[in-house]
Amino acid sequence: MKIKFLGAARTVTGSCYLVETERHRFAVDCGMHQGSGEIEKRNWDAESYDPAGIDFFLVTHAHIDHAGLLPRMVQKGFRGKIYTTPPTRDLLEVMLLDSAQVQEMETRWRNKKRSRQGEKKIQPLYRQQDVLATIPFFEERSYDAPFSPIPGVKVNFRDAGHILGASIVELWIEENGTQSKLVFSGDIGRPAQLLVEDTAPVRTADFLFLESTYGDRNHKNEKDSLDELAEAIAYSYRRKEKVIIPAFAVERTQEILYSLFLLFKDQRLPPDMPVYLDSPLAIRATEIFRRHREYFDDDAKKILKSGEDPLSFPQLHFTETSQESMALNTLAGAAVIISASGMADGGRVRHHLRHNLWREGASVVFVGFQAQGTPGRRLVEGAKTIRLLGDEIAVKARLFTINGFSAHAGQSQILDWLSHFQNPEMQVFLIHGEFPAQKILEELIQKRFGLEVCIPEYLEETVLKPGKAPERKAYPEKAAPPIDWGLILDGVESQMVRVRNQRKRIEAKGWVEQTDLQERFQELSRNLQEILAET
Ligand SMILES: [Zn+2]
Ligand SMILES: [Zn+2]
Repeated sequence: MKIKFLGAARTVTGSCYLVETERHRFAVDCGMHQGSGEIEKRNWDAESYDPAGIDFFLVTHAHIDHAGLLPRMVQKGFRGKIYTTPPTRDLLEVMLLDSAQVQEMETRWRNKKRSRQGEKKIQPLYRQQDVLATIPFFEERSYDAPFSPIPGVKVNFRDAGHILGASIVELWIEENGTQSKLVFSGDIGRPAQLLVEDTAPVRTADFLFLESTYGDRNHKNEKDSLDELAEAIAYSYRRKEKVIIPAFAVERTQEILYSLFLLFKDQRLPPDMPVYLDSPLAIRATEIFRRHREYFDDDAKKILKSGEDPLSFPQLHFTETSQESMALNTLAGAAVIISASGMADGGRVRHHLRHNLWREGASVVFVGFQAQGTPGRRLVEGAKTIRLLGDEIAVKARLFTINGFSAHAGQSQILDWLSHFQNPEMQVFLIHGEFPAQKILEELIQKRFGLEVCIPEYLEETVLKPGKAPERKAYPEKAAPPIDWGLILDGVESQMVRVRNQRKRIEAKGWVEQTDLQERFQELSRNLQEILAET
C-alpha cells in the first residue's frame, strides 16, 4: 500500500492523502492550498490527483484547507462518494459556495485588469455550479458507526473535538491477507474547547498521520483567555472605541459568541456595548451549529436545557449586507465587531482594521493561528504600520493574542493524545505543520515514546510496510522547484543602477510627476524594509 502526500506536507494547507492499494485509490481530505502564489499553483495541478481515478473521499472536517478542492475534483472527472459527518456536509455546502463565489469575483476582477493589458482571460478554479454538482456525492456517516466503502476497507469516524462534526479517521485495510490500521488525526481540537466534545482517544494504529500545527508551543489556559477577552472589552469600552475580532466563520466565531454569552452572564460585557457579527458566512454557519445541537458538548447542552442559547445574547446583531457592514465604519461609541477572515488576508475585517487600527483606545483580538505572509502575522509580530486595501495604516490599537481560543491542540495536548496509543511499533508521520514546528515535535515524540517519526515532503510517495521502515520517494524538482536568488537579486540591483543613471531625467520632470515617482519609490523601499524585517 502506498500513500501520496498531495498537500499539508511541511505546510498547514492543502490536506490530501491519497491511499493506493492494489486495486483501489482513495483519499483522506481534499483541501485547498493557501499562501503564496507559488503554493496556490498547486490547486491547478489536477494531474497529480488524477480525480477520475479516485474511488472515494473521506473528509475529516469542513475547513477549506481540508475540503476546498472537492468541486475541482468533480469538475475534473471525480464521480465517487464523499463520506463525512452530517454537520460537516451542511457546513461544507455553505463554505464551498462561498469559496466559489470568492473565486469567481476575484477572477472577474483580474480579468478586467488583464483585458486592459491585452492579456488572455483566465478561468476561476471552480464556480458555484461545480459546487452544486459536488453536493449530491456527499454521504453522511455518524461518529463510531464503522462502514465499508469498498470490500477490504473499513472506516470509522471518531470525534476530533476540533470543530463541529470534525473527525479522526480510523482506517482498516486488508491487502494480501494481512490487515493494517491507519489513523488520520485530521485536526485535533484543544481539550476543554467550548461547544465541542474533547478529542476521542484512539489506542491502536500501525501508521499514524498526525497533525502538528502547534508542534512547537503550548496554549495559555482557557480561563486566562476569557479574562483577556474581557480585558480587551473593558479597555476599548472605557475609551469608547471598537474591539475588532478577526475570526474564521466556522467554530472560532461560534466559540467567541459563546464566550461573549458567558461574559454577558458574568456582567463583564456591558449591556450598552453592541456586538456585531459581520460575516454572512459566519451567520449561516451559526445557524447550522444550532441545527446540530446533538454534536455540542455537555456544558453547552446543559445551557440549552435551561432554556438559554449559548450562541446568543441581547445585544448581538447580525450584519448581512455590505451596506450594513459599511455603516459600522461610521458608528460612534464602543462596540465589538467579529468579522472574517481570521488572518485579515481577505474579507470584511480588512475594512474594520483600516478604520480602527490607527485609533488609540481601539483593540484587535487575534484568536487563531496566523500564517506566514498574512497581515495578521505581521501585526502579531509587532509591525508598526501595515498595508491594508492599498493604504498604509499606523498601528495604535492595542493588540491581544489569545491562543487559548485555538481549535488546535497545543504541543503538550498533541503528546497527551499520542500517549493513548499502545503499540510500540507504530510509525508516525507528521503532517499539517510548518517544518520548524514539526522538527521540534519529532524530537519530543522520539524522546518520550521512542516511536519512528517521518516528516514527508509535498508529493512524496511512501510505501507502507508494518514493522519495516517506510520506502520513501520524493520529487523535489516538482515539489520545490529551485529559486534562483542570484538572478533575482542581480536583476533588482541592475535596475537600481539604471534608475540612478536616470536621476537627471527624473529631476527634469514636472513637480507633480516627481511626487508620484517619489511615492512609488517610497512604496518600493517599504517593501524592502518588510522583507528585511522578516528575514
Ligand atoms: Zn481545521
Ligand atoms: Zn487544518
